[in-house]
Amino acid sequence: MTPVLHLSGMPELPEVETIRRALEPLLLGERLTGLEVLDARIVQGDAAQLRVEALGRRIAEVMRRGKHLMLLLEGGKGIVLHLRMTGSLLLNEPERSPRVRAILSFSNGTQLFFNDMRRLGTIALINDVEAYCLRLGPEPLSEGFTTDSLARCLAGRRIPVKAALLDQHLVAGVGNMYADEALFQAGLHPLIPAGDLHSGQVQRLWIAIRAVLERAIASQGASINTYCLPNGQKGSAHDSFSVAHKKGDPCPACGTPIDRVMVRKRGSYYCPECQRHS
Ligand code: ZN
Repeated sequence: MTPVLHLSGMPELPEVETIRRALEPLLLGERLTGLEVLDARIVQGDAAQLRVEALGRRIAEVMRRGKHLMLLLEGGKGIVLHLRMTGSLLLNEPERSPRVRAILSFSNGTQLFFNDMRRLGTIALINDVEAYCLRLGPEPLSEGFTTDSLARCLAGRRIPVKAALLDQHLVAGVGNMYADEALFQAGLHPLIPAGDLHSGQVQRLWIAIRAVLERAIASQGASINTYCLPNGQKGSAHDSFSVAHKKGDPCPACGTPIDRVMVRKRGSYYCPECQRHS
C-alpha cells in the first residue's frame, strides 16, 4: 500500500539541522569532486555554471538557515540544498535508485545521494550567501530572534497565528508540525488573529517555538513522513509530540481528545480545552 503523504511531516528546521550535524564532520574541508545530475529539474539555475563554480572547491562551512542546508564554498559562494517535501540526503545509495536525483562526491570518498520521491527538492548555486540568508527570514534559534522581534512581526496582522508561524519571512524553518507543537505549549488556539496576542502570549509563544525546536533537534527530528538521517536512521521527535498528528488521542495535559482544524488549507492539531479561542 502506498503510504499516505501529508503536507506536514516534511523536513523542518530540526530535521535539516540534524542532517547538517551529521554531515559536517564528513564534509568540512573536503573538496567537491563530483556532481552527477540524474534529474535535470533538481538544479535551479544554470547547471553548467554550478559545476564550474563548485567543482574542485573546498567546503568551508556546512550551514543551515531555516529549512535550507548550505555548503559554503571557499571563495564565498555556496550551494543550497532544499529538501522540500520528501527529499533526503543519504550516505549510501538507497534501494529504490530511481528516486536518486543527484549524487555529490567529495575528496574523502564520501558520496551524498539526493533521494526524493516527490521530486520537488532543489540544488542551486548561491553567489552571495549573506544576501541569500537575509532573504530567508529570522532564524528562530539565533540571538536576533527575540520576543520584541516576534511581537513586531505579529503586530497588526489579521491572519491566524498558525498561518503567521508558517510564513518563512516571519520565522524561518518552522513548518506545520512544530507550529502546532509550539501553539500547544503556548496555550494558543491556531485561529487566533496574530495581531490579537498580548505581550504575555507573545512571550509564551517565543519560548515555546525555541523549546519545541531544540527538543526536536535533541531527538534528531521527526520521522512522520520520509525524513531520515544521512545514515538511514529515523528520528524520534514525533514520539514526544503532544498534538501534531494526534487527532483523537488524549491531550497530555488535560485528557481532552486532540482535534484538527484547517488553517489556510493546512491541517492543524490542537487541544480544544488547553487552546481556547477567546
Ligand atoms: Zn488539553
